[in-house]
Amino acid sequence: MLAAVTVTALDGRDHLVRDTALGENCDDGRYQAECGTWVVSASLCEPPGRPCALCECVAQVRTRARAVSGGGRS
Ligand SMILES: [Zn+2]
Repeated sequence: MLAAVTVTALDGRDHLVRDTALGENCDDGRYQAECGTWVVSASLCEPPGRPCALCECVAQVRTRARAVSGGGRS
């Protein structure tokens, strides 16, 4: 299963941010979502928005790739 959290960005969409991305780039408070969108920590206060279709697509592709390769974390 994809270890990610949903973060609402200033664009009003809920983006998926992997737990590994949350540990990176924490110096400047920016996190990169699965679709490439940069989310700033201030946007963590935004109310929930619409799901990001690109993040959902990336998550599905990663899940399928893991299923084909026999599992494991990437
Ligand atoms: Zn996204």
